[in-house]
Amino acid sequence: MEHFALTRRDDRLPAHATDRARLDSLVEASIAELSHSPAPRRLLGFEPWRAFEADPDFGSPNTTPRSVRANFVSCNPPSGAIKAITGPDPVGVIQAANTRAIELLDYVIRDLQGKRDEIRAGAATAATVEDIPTREALRTRFRMNADDRSIWMESSARTVLTLIRRFRGARQILADGWMRYTCLGAATITLGKCDLTEGNGCTADTRAVSCGGHSRIVLCAPWWSDDLGINKLDAQARTLLHEALHVHFGFIGDRESGNFANAHCYDQFVFDMNWLDVPTALVGSCP
Ligand SMILES: [Zn+2]
Repeated sequence: MEHFALTRRDDRLPAHATDRARLDSLVEASIAELSHSPAPRRLLGFEPWRAFEADPDFGSPNTTPRSVRANFVSCNPPSGAIKAITGPDPVGVIQAANTRAIELLDYVIRDLQGKRDEIRAGAATAATVEDIPTREALRTRFRMNADDRSIWMESSARTVLTLIRRFRGARQILADGWMRYTCLGAATITLGKCDLTEGNGCTADTRAVSCGGHSRIVLCAPWWSDDLGINKLDAQARTLLHEALHVHFGFIGDRESGNFANAHCYDQFVFDMNWLDVPTALVGSCP
Protein backbone atom coordinates (compact mmCIF):
# COMPACT_ATOMS: atom_id res chain seq x y z
CA MET A 1 0.00 0.00 0.00
CA GLU A 2 1.23 3.52 0.56
CA HIS A 3 3.96 4.48 2.90
CA PHE A 4 3.81 6.82 5.82
CA ALA A 5 5.97 9.80 6.45
CA LEU A 6 5.97 9.68 10.21
CA THR A 7 8.48 7.85 12.28
CA ARG A 8 6.74 6.41 15.30
CA ARG A 9 8.38 7.15 18.58
CA ASP A 10 6.98 5.47 21.59
CA ASP A 11 5.85 7.57 24.54
CA ARG A 12 6.52 10.89 22.91
CA LEU A 13 4.60 14.11 22.46
CA PRO A 14 2.06 14.59 19.63
CA ALA A 15 3.12 15.09 16.04
CA HIS A 16 2.44 18.36 14.26
CA ALA A 17 -1.08 19.33 13.25
CA THR A 18 -0.37 18.76 9.58
CA ASP A 19 0.59 15.17 10.32
CA ARG A 20 -2.55 14.84 12.35
CA ALA A 21 -4.84 15.93 9.51
CA ARG A 22 -3.08 13.56 7.18
CA LEU A 23 -3.40 10.74 9.64
CA ASP A 24 -7.08 11.36 10.20
CA SER A 25 -7.77 10.97 6.51
CA LEU A 26 -5.69 7.83 6.36
CA VAL A 27 -7.39 6.32 9.35
CA GLU A 28 -10.87 6.14 7.93
CA ALA A 29 -9.66 4.97 4.54
CA SER A 30 -7.58 2.26 6.12
CA ILE A 31 -10.32 1.09 8.45
CA ALA A 32 -12.67 0.82 5.51
CA GLU A 33 -10.11 -1.16 3.56
CA LEU A 34 -9.39 -3.42 6.48
CA SER A 35 -12.99 -4.34 7.06
CA HIS A 36 -13.09 -5.73 3.53
CA SER A 37 -9.77 -7.48 3.67
CA PRO A 38 -9.55 -11.05 4.93
CA ALA A 39 -5.77 -10.81 5.07
CA PRO A 40 -4.58 -7.76 7.02
CA ARG A 41 -0.97 -8.83 6.50
CA ARG A 42 -1.16 -7.56 2.96
CA LEU A 43 -1.12 -4.08 4.36
CA LEU A 44 2.62 -4.63 4.40
CA GLY A 45 2.56 -3.85 0.72
CA PHE A 46 6.11 -2.67 0.30
CA GLU A 47 7.57 -5.83 1.70
CA PRO A 48 5.99 -7.88 -1.07
CA TRP A 49 7.88 -11.06 -0.23
CA ARG A 50 5.69 -11.36 2.86
CA ALA A 51 2.55 -11.70 0.82
CA PHE A 52 3.87 -14.64 -1.16
CA GLU A 53 4.88 -16.80 1.71
CA ALA A 54 2.82 -19.84 2.50
CA ASP A 55 3.15 -19.17 6.21
CA PRO A 56 0.74 -20.44 8.82
CA ASP A 57 -1.59 -17.82 10.32
CA PHE A 58 0.64 -16.21 12.91
CA GLY A 59 -2.24 -13.91 13.86
CA SER A 60 -3.92 -16.90 15.46
CA PRO A 61 -3.26 -17.70 19.13
CA ASN A 62 -3.28 -21.35 18.05
CA THR A 63 -0.13 -20.97 15.93
CA THR A 64 3.12 -21.51 17.81
CA PRO A 65 5.26 -18.38 17.49
CA ARG A 66 8.62 -18.54 15.80
CA SER A 67 11.63 -17.54 17.84
CA VAL A 68 13.21 -14.14 17.48
CA ARG A 69 16.01 -14.70 14.97
CA ALA A 70 19.31 -14.04 16.65
CA ASN A 71 20.85 -12.81 13.40
CA PHE A 72 18.02 -10.24 13.12
CA VAL A 73 19.18 -8.62 16.37
CA SER A 74 21.84 -5.98 15.73
CA CYS A 75 23.85 -6.62 18.89
CA ASN A 76 24.38 -10.33 18.55
CA PRO A 77 26.79 -10.68 20.21
CA PRO A 78 26.92 -7.32 22.04
CA SER A 79 30.10 -5.27 22.11
CA GLY A 80 31.41 -4.13 25.48
CA ALA A 81 29.79 -0.69 25.33
CA ILE A 82 26.40 -2.04 24.27
CA LYS A 83 26.59 -4.92 26.69
CA ALA A 84 26.84 -2.41 29.54
CA ILE A 85 23.28 -1.34 28.65
CA THR A 86 21.70 -4.50 27.29
CA GLY A 87 23.29 -7.02 29.58
CA PRO A 88 25.14 -10.11 28.34
CA ASP A 89 22.21 -11.71 26.47
CA PRO A 90 20.21 -9.11 24.53
CA VAL A 91 18.67 -11.73 22.24
CA GLY A 92 17.37 -13.54 25.31
CA VAL A 93 15.90 -10.34 26.73
CA ILE A 94 14.13 -9.52 23.45
CA GLN A 95 12.88 -13.10 23.14
CA ALA A 96 11.44 -13.04 26.65
CA ALA A 97 9.69 -9.70 26.04
CA ASN A 98 8.38 -10.90 22.69
CA THR A 99 7.03 -14.09 24.26
CA ARG A 100 5.31 -12.08 26.97
CA ALA A 101 3.80 -9.64 24.45
CA ILE A 102 2.35 -12.54 22.47
CA GLU A 103 1.00 -14.13 25.64
CA LEU A 104 -0.79 -10.89 26.59
CA LEU A 105 -2.20 -10.53 23.07
CA ASP A 106 -3.32 -14.15 22.91
CA TYR A 107 -5.38 -13.78 26.04
CA VAL A 108 -7.17 -10.75 24.59
CA ILE A 109 -7.74 -12.29 21.15
CA ARG A 110 -9.17 -15.50 22.62
CA ASP A 111 -11.32 -13.64 25.11
CA LEU A 112 -12.84 -11.21 22.61
CA GLN A 113 -13.36 -13.89 19.98
CA GLY A 114 -15.06 -16.14 22.54
CA LYS A 115 -17.39 -13.41 23.76
CA ARG A 116 -18.19 -12.31 20.23
CA ASP A 117 -19.04 -15.87 19.21
CA GLU A 118 -21.35 -16.29 22.20
CA ILE A 119 -23.20 -13.04 21.59
CA ARG A 120 -23.55 -13.73 17.88
CA ALA A 121 -25.02 -17.10 18.82
CA GLY A 122 -27.71 -15.28 20.82
CA ALA A 123 -26.31 -14.85 24.33
CA ALA A 124 -27.15 -11.69 26.25
CA THR A 125 -24.34 -9.16 26.57
CA ALA A 126 -24.97 -8.81 30.31
CA ALA A 127 -24.28 -12.51 30.82
CA THR A 128 -21.38 -12.73 28.39
CA VAL A 129 -19.54 -9.57 29.37
CA GLU A 130 -19.91 -9.79 33.09
CA ASP A 131 -16.26 -9.27 33.91
CA ILE A 132 -15.17 -5.79 34.87
CA PRO A 133 -11.99 -5.53 32.77
CA THR A 134 -13.77 -6.09 29.48
CA ARG A 135 -16.56 -3.61 30.16
CA GLU A 136 -14.25 -0.97 31.53
CA ALA A 137 -11.55 -1.47 28.92
CA LEU A 138 -14.04 -1.14 26.06
CA ARG A 139 -15.49 1.96 27.64
CA THR A 140 -12.34 3.78 28.70
CA ARG A 141 -10.03 2.90 25.82
CA PHE A 142 -12.47 2.89 22.88
CA ARG A 143 -15.67 4.54 24.16
CA MET A 144 -17.58 1.36 23.40
CA ASN A 145 -20.63 0.21 25.35
CA ALA A 146 -20.42 -3.53 26.04
CA ASP A 147 -24.23 -3.74 26.11
CA ASP A 148 -24.57 -2.35 22.60
CA ARG A 149 -25.06 -5.57 20.63
CA SER A 150 -24.06 -3.90 17.40
CA ILE A 151 -20.41 -3.66 18.47
CA TRP A 152 -20.38 -7.45 18.76
CA MET A 153 -22.63 -8.36 15.86
CA GLU A 154 -21.37 -6.04 13.15
CA SER A 155 -18.14 -5.94 11.21
CA SER A 156 -17.96 -2.25 10.41
CA ALA A 157 -15.14 0.09 11.39
CA ARG A 158 -15.61 0.60 15.12
CA THR A 159 -16.55 -2.83 16.35
CA VAL A 160 -15.02 -5.62 18.41
CA LEU A 161 -14.08 -7.35 15.17
CA THR A 162 -11.88 -4.39 14.29
CA LEU A 163 -10.13 -4.70 17.65
CA ILE A 164 -9.63 -8.42 17.15
CA ARG A 165 -8.13 -7.82 13.72
CA ARG A 166 -5.76 -5.20 15.08
CA PHE A 167 -4.57 -7.47 17.89
CA ARG A 168 -4.16 -10.36 15.45
CA GLY A 169 -2.10 -8.11 13.18
CA ALA A 170 0.24 -7.20 16.03
CA ARG A 171 0.42 -10.86 17.05
CA GLN A 172 1.27 -11.91 13.54
CA ILE A 173 4.33 -9.76 13.14
CA LEU A 174 5.61 -10.48 16.63
CA ALA A 175 5.21 -14.19 16.00
CA ASP A 176 6.26 -14.72 12.39
CA GLY A 177 9.99 -14.45 13.02
CA TRP A 178 10.66 -11.63 10.54
CA MET A 179 11.01 -8.71 12.92
CA ARG A 180 14.42 -7.10 13.07
CA TYR A 181 15.73 -5.31 16.13
CA THR A 182 18.23 -2.50 16.50
CA CYS A 183 19.53 -2.74 20.04
CA LEU A 184 20.41 0.91 20.62
CA GLY A 185 19.16 3.50 18.16
CA ALA A 186 20.91 6.80 17.47
CA ALA A 187 19.35 10.20 18.18
CA THR A 188 18.54 10.61 14.48
CA ILE A 189 17.73 7.54 12.41
CA THR A 190 16.64 6.43 8.97
CA LEU A 191 13.87 3.87 9.03
CA GLY A 192 11.88 2.43 6.15
CA LYS A 193 10.09 5.08 4.13
CA CYS A 194 9.73 7.38 7.09
CA ASP A 195 11.12 10.88 6.94
CA LEU A 196 14.55 11.52 8.32
CA THR A 197 14.13 14.36 10.78
CA GLU A 198 16.80 15.44 13.18
CA GLY A 199 16.14 14.00 16.62
CA ASN A 200 13.50 11.53 15.39
CA GLY A 201 15.22 8.59 17.06
CA CYS A 202 16.37 7.63 20.51
CA THR A 203 16.47 10.82 22.54
CA ALA A 204 15.51 11.56 26.14
CA ASP A 205 12.90 9.10 27.40
CA THR A 206 12.04 7.46 24.07
CA ARG A 207 11.83 3.71 24.54
CA ALA A 208 11.57 2.57 20.93
CA VAL A 209 11.05 3.81 17.38
CA SER A 210 9.36 2.20 14.39
CA CYS A 211 7.97 3.02 10.96
CA GLY A 212 4.74 1.74 9.39
CA GLY A 213 5.32 -1.15 7.01
CA HIS A 214 8.94 -1.62 7.97
CA SER A 215 9.66 -4.67 10.09
CA ARG A 216 12.21 -3.25 12.46
CA ILE A 217 11.91 -2.10 16.04
CA VAL A 218 14.63 0.29 17.12
CA LEU A 219 15.13 -0.05 20.85
CA CYS A 220 16.49 2.78 22.99
CA ALA A 221 18.40 2.64 26.26
CA PRO A 222 15.34 3.10 28.54
CA TRP A 223 13.73 -0.02 27.06
CA TRP A 224 16.51 -2.11 28.56
CA SER A 225 16.44 -0.62 32.06
CA ASP A 226 13.27 1.37 32.85
CA ASP A 227 10.49 -0.73 34.36
CA LEU A 228 7.96 2.18 34.19
CA GLY A 229 7.01 1.44 37.78
CA ILE A 230 5.48 -1.94 36.89
CA ASN A 231 7.95 -4.72 36.12
CA LYS A 232 10.58 -4.74 33.44
CA LEU A 233 9.29 -7.71 31.46
CA ASP A 234 5.77 -6.30 31.16
CA ALA A 235 7.11 -2.83 30.40
CA GLN A 236 9.27 -4.27 27.61
CA ALA A 237 6.42 -6.41 26.28
CA ARG A 238 4.14 -3.37 26.22
CA THR A 239 6.61 -1.46 24.08
CA LEU A 240 6.96 -4.31 21.59
CA LEU A 241 3.24 -4.79 21.10
CA HIS A 242 2.80 -1.01 20.86
CA GLU A 243 5.42 -0.76 18.11
CA ALA A 244 3.99 -3.83 16.35
CA LEU A 245 0.70 -1.93 15.94
CA HIS A 246 2.56 0.99 14.34
CA VAL A 247 4.51 -1.33 12.06
CA HIS A 248 1.61 -3.47 10.90
CA PHE A 249 -0.99 -0.71 10.67
CA GLY A 250 0.89 2.35 9.45
CA PHE A 251 -2.17 4.55 10.11
CA ILE A 252 -2.09 3.77 13.81
CA GLY A 253 -0.29 6.66 15.47
CA ASP A 254 -0.09 7.85 19.03
CA ARG A 255 -2.05 10.29 21.13
CA GLU A 256 -2.40 12.80 18.28
CA SER A 257 -4.92 10.39 16.72
CA GLY A 258 -8.40 9.27 17.75
CA ASN A 259 -8.53 6.29 20.08
CA PHE A 260 -9.04 3.73 17.29
CA ALA A 261 -5.83 4.99 15.70
CA ASN A 262 -3.83 5.47 18.90
CA ALA A 263 -1.46 2.61 19.70
CA HIS A 264 -1.54 3.58 23.39
CA CYS A 265 -5.25 2.74 23.56
CA TYR A 266 -4.55 -0.73 22.21
CA ASP A 267 -1.66 -1.50 24.54
CA GLN A 268 -3.60 -0.13 27.51
CA PHE A 269 -6.61 -2.24 26.52
CA VAL A 270 -4.35 -5.30 26.49
CA PHE A 271 -3.08 -4.43 29.95
CA ASP A 272 -6.61 -3.85 31.28
CA MET A 273 -7.82 -7.17 29.95
CA ASN A 274 -4.88 -8.99 31.53
CA TRP A 275 -5.57 -7.30 34.90
CA LEU A 276 -2.30 -5.36 34.71
CA ASP A 277 -1.82 -1.77 35.80
CA VAL A 278 -1.07 0.71 33.05
CA PRO A 279 2.19 2.54 33.88
CA THR A 280 1.28 5.79 35.67
CA ALA A 281 3.31 7.94 33.30
CA LEU A 282 1.28 6.64 30.34
CA VAL A 283 -2.25 6.89 31.72
CA GLY A 284 -2.97 10.12 29.81
CA SER A 285 -1.67 8.75 26.52
CA CYS A 286 -5.09 7.28 25.69
CA PRO A 287 -7.39 10.19 26.53
ZN1 LIG B 1 3.81 4.93 19.60
